[in-house]
Amino acid sequence: ITIAPSQLQQEQVLLTTQQKHYLKRVLRLREGDRFIVMDGLGKWWLARLTEEQAQVLEELAVKTELPVAITLMIALPKGSGFDEVVRSCTELGVACIAPVLSDRTLLNPSSQKLERWRRIASEAAEQSERAFVPTILEPVAFSDAVNNVTATYRYICEARGEYVHLKNVLTDISGEIVIAIGPEGGWTDRELEEATTLSFQPVSLGGRILRAVTAPLVALSLISAACEG
Ligand code: SAM
Repeated sequence: ITIAPSQLQQEQVLLTTQQKHYLKRVLRLREGDRFIVMDGLGKWWLARLTEEQAQVLEELAVKTELPVAITLMIALPKGSGFDEVVRSCTELGVACIAPVLSDRTLLNPSSQKLERWRRIASEAAEQSERAFVPTILEPVAFSDAVNNVTATYRYICEARGEYVHLKNVLTDISGEIVIAIGPEGGWTDRELEEATTLSFQPVSLGGRILRAVTAPLVALSLISAACEG
């Protein structure tokens, strides 16, 4: 989550209702669990969850993390393609992967799959010398996922239509970004409309139609190129 730099001077920071909901309901953290707080300016802090507050513990010296926290919201692709998405996106610096069940997603995966993805993320994070293992959330319905977003920067990738290219909207971004990638059949009009109502900006990744497992790699590469170095 992002907390204003001025508040991070304090040891205890009162959390907003939305932040508490995200930490406790979406990430399912319990009291005492640790999580990362960003100041929106590229600094990361370790914090501990108390009943109503975040106890700020220490600033983290982070060299292998992107200066922005990217959540990849992705409709589950068919077959075993998702293993590779988790592995590659972890290498590319994703902070959180939020699988969603979209109108055109057929299956709700088993809990073993979730465990498997978390293991893959952990191995890939180690291989890439990441400071953190990305969070892999439990798959939820598209509506629940988009309604729980707290990030300021919200993009939904859409392969059809005349949308602005992602690379052209990535100036002056900081803090948290969420980028949504649809299933093989694409987003339905209803999903696109719901997301745009919730301030997701529809964006293009270029003239070619990318597979659902390729699109996140392109999106993450563009974001990291825009905010690193
Ligand atoms: N048949 C689908 C359609 O017509 O929309 C193609 C879906 S594509 C295989 C899967 C997802 O990858 C899309 O929903 C979108 O999120 C993303 N995607 C693929 N190519 C893209 C592009 N050129 N621009 C933006 N998003 C793209």
